[in-house]
Amino acid sequence: MSTSKAIKAAYTLLEKHKIKSAPVPIQKIAKLEKLNVIPYDFSTNVSGALIVENDIATIGVNPFENTKRKRFTIAHEMGHFILHSNRSNSLFVDNTTFLNSELHFRNEVSSQGEDKKEIEANAFAAALLMPKFLVEKELKIISKSSKSYNDELIVKQLAKKFVVSVVAMTFRLANLGIRG
Ligand SMILES: [Zn+2]
Repeated sequence: MSTSKAIKAAYTLLEKHKIKSAPVPIQKIAKLEKLNVIPYDFSTNVSGALIVENDIATIGVNPFENTKRKRFTIAHEMGHFILHSNRSNSLFVDNTTFLNSELHFRNEVSSQGEDKKEIEANAFAAALLMPKFLVEKELKIISKSSKSYNDELIVKQLAKKFVVSVVAMTFRLANLGIRG
C-alpha cells in the first residue's frame, strides 16, 4: 500500500459513482458504499472513527466540528474502510492530530505502521474531495472569469467550491504542483 494506490482507489470510487463536478457529494458516496454516517459525540480531540462490526460499517463523526472538517473526516474514514479494513470487523479512531497530519510535515512522529495508514487515509481523502481533474477544471473556470484575482482569492474560491478548508486546498494545490 502506498499513497499512489490510495489516490488511485479514490479516483476509482469517483469514477464508479460518476462524479463529474465539485463539490464531491461525500455523504451520498458513503451511502452508496453502504457506510452509515452518524454523528457521534466523542471525547475532545477525536474527529471521527470507523467501526466495522459483523459486516456493518459505520463512520462516526464529531458533530461539533464544521462541515468542511466533517467532510474530510468522512472521506478519511472511508479511506480506512476501503484501504485498511477487512470489511467485516475493524476499528479506527482518529484524533485531531492524525487528521491534521496531512497538513504538517510529521517530523514529530516516526513512520510506524499506523502512521502510514493515516498518511494513506489522508491522501485518499484529499484525492476524493479534491480530485485533480476537478481542481484543474474549476481552476480554469475561475482564472478565466477573474483575471484580476490574486492567488489567495483563487485558493479561497476553490476551497469554497469544493467545500474544503483553505488550508486543505492550499496543500492539495501544492501537492498537485498547481499554483493557486
Ligand atoms: Zn485515520
